[in-house]
Amino acid sequence: MGEFFQQRQELIAQDIKDLALMKPTELEILANLKLSQIKEQFSTQYSIDDMLDFWSIRDSVINTRLFQIFKKMPKGAVLHMHYGGMLPAVDVLSILKNDPEIYIKTIDNCPYIFSSCQTDSISLTQYLENPENEKTLLNVLETNREKSVGLPSECWSSFMQIFTSTLSAFSDNRILEKYIELAFTRFYEDNVQRVEFRHMPFSIQATETDGLPSENIAFLKNVCERFTSNHPDFTSGAILCTIKLFSKERIIKETEEIYMLHLLFPKFVLGFDIPGEEEKYREDEDIFGDIHRISENAKKSGNHCPIFLHAGEVVNKPGPTVYDAFAIGSKRIGHGISLIKHPQLLRIAKKEKITIESCPISNMILGYVRDPRVHPALAYLFQGIPVTISSDDPGCFGYSGVTHDWVWIYMLWGINLMHVKKMIENSIDGCTEPEEVRRVWEGKWQEFIEYLANLEI
Ligand SMILES: [Zn+2]
Repeated sequence: MGEFFQQRQELIAQDIKDLALMKPTELEILANLKLSQIKEQFSTQYSIDDMLDFWSIRDSVINTRLFQIFKKMPKGAVLHMHYGGMLPAVDVLSILKNDPEIYIKTIDNCPYIFSSCQTDSISLTQYLENPENEKTLLNVLETNREKSVGLPSECWSSFMQIFTSTLSAFSDNRILEKYIELAFTRFYEDNVQRVEFRHMPFSIQATETDGLPSENIAFLKNVCERFTSNHPDFTSGAILCTIKLFSKERIIKETEEIYMLHLLFPKFVLGFDIPGEEEKYREDEDIFGDIHRISENAKKSGNHCPIFLHAGEVVNKPGPTVYDAFAIGSKRIGHGISLIKHPQLLRIAKKEKITIESCPISNMILGYVRDPRVHPALAYLFQGIPVTISSDDPGCFGYSGVTHDWVWIYMLWGINLMHVKKMIENSIDGCTEPEEVRRVWEGKWQEFIEYLANLEI
């Protein structure tokens, strides 16, 4: 072999070493071939431009063979998901309108608020007597093409209105029960083995005198456990959150309360996070310094509450919170888009196996990475950093589960079945119950590979 080709071969060998893919089994080789043939069929129906215009094909893509195969694929754990963003508008409205005790009112910064409070409101049933109003509400409860243009901050404001509309109704136990049941059913139908969802246990109008919301968390825990007792191959837990935009005093108080809730419900309250629009975060207030102090004090008394921070969900700013996330010892990073600018943090992420919770469709819609083909998570994956795939707030984007995200990256990232398997295994390693989820997932993966390898093309 000539010197040039030898050098070229060495470069290729070194390059794929970092990714450290498992050697595929004979059946996986065959399954991968079948999947790539189905991908070719899909490409005759949908172009790259169609994939980049999410809204144009979001619903029709569900009928394709490729989508149905990815729906069937056992996906391990979904690590990044927000309570309140799990179900699309049509499902949310069907839950709300079947409850005679739900009322609707309008306030200045948000046109429609659903709640069980009657004051200054009209009943939802009465409001829906005019069929046009149903269309209005479906529009309020989802983002769409028109609302997702422009800079991320513009997309965020319409996106946050969805959460503001439903927050009060969703914290009502009657609604919460139906909401969790239906949302988990959607993930279960997507062959997801575990969901670790973010949840804000405090009311937006919280006051100084509000007690610890331990009864609400106990209720939520029971609802989640009931789903598992009916579906033993599915488990869940909650990462409790306060929000970046709150005052520093409020953030600190709620962080302390979340640490207490972790102590009360250690198996169910999986950890702590502080999401919110990162570009508006007030870096100068040193909130994370105080959170670090709370965390260290809790550890000294034996309360190890893991931290799973949203960080690096920015484009034009340097992203100070990525440093906070690493310095505070976050076990996983929500999004991590701006990590691409921080080689040292990427080295740490690889060495310490810090999981990246990537949400490609959310990033596309909110304007952080409009073209998933150049999503930084693809670069992280090939560097051997544990990348995982989640759907963040699929309901707000008009779908449920996480299959859309897998189809989009499979079509746009130039990856094969072994890369997909690697990211699923990353999700299992990165979740809080890896042994249990792996035990359930392994048999399902084998079954899926046999099914795929034997498919007639
Ligand atoms: Zn998120």
